[in-house]
Amino acid sequence: MCFSDVEGPIRNHTSFEMYIDPEMWETIKPRLKSTDLSSQHKYTMTASTWTNEFVNYFRQNCTEAMKGCKLYFKQHKVNEPFNPDKAQYYVYTTPNCRREGCKMQYHFGLTYKPKINEGARFIVR
Ligand SMILES: [Zn+2]
Repeated sequence: MCFSDVEGPIRNHTSFEMYIDPEMWETIKPRLKSTDLSSQHKYTMTASTWTNEFVNYFRQNCTEAMKGCKLYFKQHKVNEPFNPDKAQYYVYTTPNCRREGCKMQYHFGLTYKPKINEGARFIVR
C-alpha cells in the first residue's frame, strides 16, 4: 500500500476530548424513543442530527492529522438510567473511517450524564 497522502490517524492517532456545548447537546441529547418500556434501547439521540453534529464537533476538536478522516456512524448505545457502577458510558458509539488507507475505528464515550445546561465531554480514542 502507498501512504503518500500522510493525513489521517494511521500515523498520528491520539486520544482527545470532544466537547459539545450545552445548546447543541440539548438539541441532540438522548430522548425517550418509545413508550415500550420492555425495549432495551428506549432512549436514543435524534436521528440524522446527531451524526452530522458529531462529524462537525469531531473535526473541530481532533488533531490536524485526523481531519482527513471521514467518519461513518451507524449505531449508538445509551445507558438510561445511567448507573456508573454498571455501565462505563452514558452514550457510546464506534464510527468507522471510510477513508482509503485509514479505515480507523474510533470509540466515542461519554462517562457521565450531563445535567441541565451542562455540555457533553466525550472521550475519543
Ligand atoms: Zn481515517
